[in-house]
Amino acid sequence: MGIAIIGAGFAGLCMAIKLKEAGYHDFVILEKAADLGGTWRDNTYPGCACDVPSPMYSFSFELNPGWSRMFSPQEEIWAYMRACADKYGVTPHFRFGVEVTGLEYDDDRNLWRVFTSTGEPITANAVVSGIGALHVPSFPDIPGKFGGPAFHSAQWDHSVDLTGKRVAVIGTGASAIQFVPRVAEQAAELRLFQRTPPWIQPKPDFAVSDRAKKVLRLPGAARMARNSIYWLLESRALGFTIDPRLMKVHRRMAERHLARQVADPGLRARLTPDYTIGCKRILLSDDYYPALTRDNVELVTDAITEIRDRSIIDATGREHEVDVIVYGTGFKVTDALSEQRIIGRNGRKIQDAWQDGVEAYLGITASGFPNLFFLLGPNTGLGHNSVVFMIESQVRYVMDCLRLLSRTGAKALDVRPEVQRAYNDRLQRRLDRLVWTDGGCTSWYLDEHGRNRAIWPGFTFEYWTRTRRMRPSAYELLR
Ligand code: NAP
Repeated sequence: MGIAIIGAGFAGLCMAIKLKEAGYHDFVILEKAADLGGTWRDNTYPGCACDVPSPMYSFSFELNPGWSRMFSPQEEIWAYMRACADKYGVTPHFRFGVEVTGLEYDDDRNLWRVFTSTGEPITANAVVSGIGALHVPSFPDIPGKFGGPAFHSAQWDHSVDLTGKRVAVIGTGASAIQFVPRVAEQAAELRLFQRTPPWIQPKPDFAVSDRAKKVLRLPGAARMARNSIYWLLESRALGFTIDPRLMKVHRRMAERHLARQVADPGLRARLTPDYTIGCKRILLSDDYYPALTRDNVELVTDAITEIRDRSIIDATGREHEVDVIVYGTGFKVTDALSEQRIIGRNGRKIQDAWQDGVEAYLGITASGFPNLFFLLGPNTGLGHNSVVFMIESQVRYVMDCLRLLSRTGAKALDVRPEVQRAYNDRLQRRLDRLVWTDGGCTSWYLDEHGRNRAIWPGFTFEYWTRTRRMRPSAYELLR
């Protein structure tokens, strides 16, 4: 086997398409689920949509003038991915229902042994990990056990009818603010347990008219729309990358939005964050605040201390009787990468390589793990633009690495440890003074030592430039 891609989300799909285009046919995409789509297959909660404009949250090589909305719903994004897989002829390369359980590097043959849940032995010259950061649901560690239905936003249980029920939602992050308005319409009562309020700005969403779709089909029009959105989003990076003080404009916009939508000063105060905007993901919504002003919705800001058979107890001792609990409590982010069973050169475990924190060179290659490429790996997530842009940059970089191997006849490449060290030292120094670490909040961007292992601290065009060409001198070639 030439190349094994792990995961059939946006990252794995992009890698497969670009391999196919370049004339590689000897590759498989190993996917533990029964279909492609990654996060857009898993997250089916009511109201699920992308909070990045669709013209930008799609492949640059497959613009879609037919998006129904500026921020398209989950089913449409998922359908787009399936259409891409068919159009670019990668569908036969998927192996669904195959979970990768471990990777082991064979030093003698310079190959990866890929272990899977089906027991089928696979060896590969190169492995591309497209497992994403946000797919292992995180449940809060609260004492007690609930007797009724309870599920996580990423594992929505559609068999539970919320109509007329008393529903508790725990969490107020990017997922929760999308489904809370829908649940509020259905449930008899909704108790929303908020630990930290998010900063929320208006969502400039609208249905794309048939006329606009026609215009977007004209030569160059969809490209122009995408480019304009790209630069608009990129301008948001100024405060993130240069100085948190530049976030003031964003703060004012969010405060005005809250003031316009919530008349009650008490509720408004409880919805006002006390940290610098941007420290956690800035959320976009026009229907979240209005949902909280409904008579059947109560915002609870006291911590949860216990979960009982049919109720939730808060820190004041108050008992909230509920029929269903929905966890909007996010994902175990750094664990997703560092808990993998990966054994690299000379039997070194990835956990040992990452004992001081998860890191890679350009977020793509880790020293001691030759020909293992991470897509959306450490420090390549974004708070201001589309991660699909990052994925495309990384895939192009991997292709460049593969071309170097063919050109030189080397079997594998391994990033030099000093190159990886210098890169990450610089990156961390830069992150130290930016809003994610300095903004007075905690988030999934930070690891247990408070270090940002998730976010790219610059403009995306900077990342694009740095990954445009791989630097052979940064790598040791194994023959
Ligand atoms: P999240 O942003 O990590 O939010 C989790 C929420 O659960 C937070 O409000 C957190 O509060 C709360 N929480 C955790 N433990 C709690 C506890 N014990 N008691 C009370 N509250 C608790 O997770 P998410 O909303 O699933 O979003 C994760 C990421 O997915 C986002 O940052 C984004 O990158 C991505 N996403 C993207 C989209 C999109 O449209 N592109 C949509 C959804 C999600 P604290 O803030 O206090 O920790």
